[in-house]
Amino acid sequence: MSQAPHLSISSLKRAGVGLLLWAASSLVMAADPEPAMKVEQVGPHSYYVQGLSQLGSTKNQNFISNAGFVITPQSVVVIDALGSPRLAERLTAEIRKLTPLPISDVILTHYHADHIYGLQYFKQLGARITAHVAAKEYIQSDTASLRLEASRTDLAPWIDDKTRLVLADTWINGPTSLKIGGWVFEIDHVGPSHTPEDLTVFVPNEKVLFAGDLFFNGRLPFVGKANSSQWILSLDQMLKHDATAVVPGHGAASMDPKKDITMTRDYLKYLRTSMGAAVQDFVPFEEAYKATDWSAFEATPMFGFANRMNAYNTYLLMEEEALEKKR
Ligand SMILES: [Zn+2]
Repeated sequence: MSQAPHLSISSLKRAGVGLLLWAASSLVMAADPEPAMKVEQVGPHSYYVQGLSQLGSTKNQNFISNAGFVITPQSVVVIDALGSPRLAERLTAEIRKLTPLPISDVILTHYHADHIYGLQYFKQLGARITAHVAAKEYIQSDTASLRLEASRTDLAPWIDDKTRLVLADTWINGPTSLKIGGWVFEIDHVGPSHTPEDLTVFVPNEKVLFAGDLFFNGRLPFVGKANSSQWILSLDQMLKHDATAVVPGHGAASMDPKKDITMTRDYLKYLRTSMGAAVQDFVPFEEAYKATDWSAFEATPMFGFANRMNAYNTYLLMEEEALEKKR
């Protein structure tokens, strides 16, 4: 091959090379490459990988959420286990490029499928799993089993008969300070917001906060059925850490947490005040939505997609809260 550039290439040979290239590229396509996994550094010894903003599928291995890791002087602590055992294996391979230290712990921000299906891989490596006790009932429920059963079809072959739901080894209840590898990991229970068991993990040595699904950087959140008054308190609690980087459960990390967390918090507050006032004055939702000035948030990504639904869900929540108060 080293002589190839010196040869004069006949048209026949050119056709041959073209055919070879074509065959090679179709082979690659047939193998369906795994989605890229790129490690990003967010602190002196802190990193994360960013999942795709897609729905989980066979093609993306369910790589739709983030996972973080911190290399302490003695071991590696992983935050969230990714959406399939294969992804956990791939994350471990990435960690191995940086350190030979053992993965001693996995801390889960919450027990949603896309953050936990990789657990069994870390468990088999001997890692201790820590989560909030509020998830214990759910993970042993029929709902969780049925979800896994459906994933065996939807996410095959990455989720299969061998994939199982893994319970935590340590269930914490309330704020907890874990000492791992000589470093402190401050765990706050910030639920029930996105889920009853929401946790955040702050590493003071690194000034890095792992925030799970309570914080979306650079876009509007999906409020869904979340308890937004608790969510606002959780965001206030996050601000107290004075972190220099925050890794969310989805999307890119924030390197300007004060500004980014404040935006999410103010948006939630605005939803509650504007929709709350409409409920108070018996203004129907449609009318209230049209009359509200959304200009402060219109330029934020996902506005067109999420704002109306967020406003509607908040309207319903404010109705519920008004009824509770009357009771
Ligand atoms: Zn999530």
